[in-house]
Amino acid sequence: MSERKVRVRFAPSPTGALHIGGVRTALYNYLFARRHGGKFILRIEDTDSQRFVPGAEEYILESFHWLNITFDEGVSFGGDHGPYRQSERREIYKEYIQILLNNGKAYIAFDTPEELEAKRNETANFQYDASTRMQMRNSLTLSEEETDALMAGGEQYVVRFRIEPDEDVHVNDLVRGDVVVNSSVLDDKVLFKSADGLPTYHLANIVDDHLMEISHVIRGEEWLPSAPLHVLLYRAFGWEDTMPAFAHLPLLLKPEGNGKLSKRDGDRLGFPVFPLQWKDPKTGELSSGYRESGYLPEAVLNFLALLGWNPGNDQEIMSMDEMTGRFDLARCSKSGAKFDYTKGIWFNHQYIQAKSDDEIAGMFLPVLEEHGVTAPLEKIATVVGLTKARVDFVKELWDASGFFFIAPAGYDEKTVKKRWKEDSAKCLLELADVLNGISGFNPQEQEKAVMDWIAAKEYHTGNVMNVFRLALVGEGKGPHIFDISRVLGKDETLARIRRAVEALR
Ligand code: GLU
Repeated sequence: MSERKVRVRFAPSPTGALHIGGVRTALYNYLFARRHGGKFILRIEDTDSQRFVPGAEEYILESFHWLNITFDEGVSFGGDHGPYRQSERREIYKEYIQILLNNGKAYIAFDTPEELEAKRNETANFQYDASTRMQMRNSLTLSEEETDALMAGGEQYVVRFRIEPDEDVHVNDLVRGDVVVNSSVLDDKVLFKSADGLPTYHLANIVDDHLMEISHVIRGEEWLPSAPLHVLLYRAFGWEDTMPAFAHLPLLLKPEGNGKLSKRDGDRLGFPVFPLQWKDPKTGELSSGYRESGYLPEAVLNFLALLGWNPGNDQEIMSMDEMTGRFDLARCSKSGAKFDYTKGIWFNHQYIQAKSDDEIAGMFLPVLEEHGVTAPLEKIATVVGLTKARVDFVKELWDASGFFFIAPAGYDEKTVKKRWKEDSAKCLLELADVLNGISGFNPQEQEKAVMDWIAAKEYHTGNVMNVFRLALVGEGKGPHIFDISRVLGKDETLARIRRAVEALR
């Protein structure tokens, strides 16, 4: 078979916030397209007017903008296969519905919801299919004149796909292999509804994949049950030669592994399941997002990439280029991927360490401002360098380093109880004199002077250092003590020592 131009799409329905599983699907499509020098298309599948949620499309676009996932064609990106919003393609779908009606692959059905309900009550496990369709009110059981008359009279109808029974339908799945389903289990799916003049998902999806020349359909496992129907639709149109290859990605599972990941798991365990914060326009309910929670987009992508795919070695930290270079659908797993959100936090930690202190300082700036602190960027970067190893999120830098910018307002009681000794005040005042006496103030100079003094006086190093830390930080945490004093500078260090003596003696 000749190599086909790779064209893949992400085709979300704007029915609410984009779930993190959808982001993973988009990422795999993106990696696949980049890997093969292909095109990545964003199609908005908004034919279900009942489920349309205002703001959802904007949310999707903003999410990918934040994640730096770019599309080559699609809604807001342009391209020559548009329009890319299905609600703008109504006329196209009508044309294709007509083709199926004309070649006998579809038929018109007038059964009202009440009639269908009655049938379901009367027949156990009723399914609208080859075994029942001849008992229903449709263009197969009515004469052509009757059908035309009903339509002319404005009767509501749907168009149903006529599925032939007892045929093994093969879905060639790049992740799962040959998936076989017997057509008898499928029902005559509704493809179009006259009530809103819109096609259903199945028809619009197949027509668009065809017209947009999609080569690979990479999507979540939840769409696998639709795939045999899609294969049959391709065939009904006579498009089997250009039918895309399928790849159904493994489900994202709860962190414990028992069942599908849901928003409630995020609420229960305290992690976001959406890329960005989302406010439900109907209920006003606010859901947290990875962006607002302080995750770096690169960390989120790296984390998601490994949920269902592996690069063939045990490398975990990978740039987009590295992931692109290695991405292979054959390395996607069939079984669900546990959503280990703590691993996501680990990735964030790693990415913070990998960024320059200057860059993290820039991100820390607004946090400092929130706390009413302004400081030169150079100082912030130095502080970041001393403390970032201790944090998973930029906002945690405040707890880890606030004392560099604001003198302690009080002294942690527990630490005081443990560390403050009878001679601590005297010791600290001597220490202040020692520090005041040295000409330079870099950590080595301080350390040398202080250690010489401790040795001469036969003091206990630990005792001195602990109260020194208490004086500068207000508690028992923080980086190397002489790094703290160096950043604070001589005047501030001495001032804090004296203040601690005043307060604690
Ligand atoms: N509109 C579907 C969704 O919301 C698209 C599924 C597919 O990729 O075929 O995910």
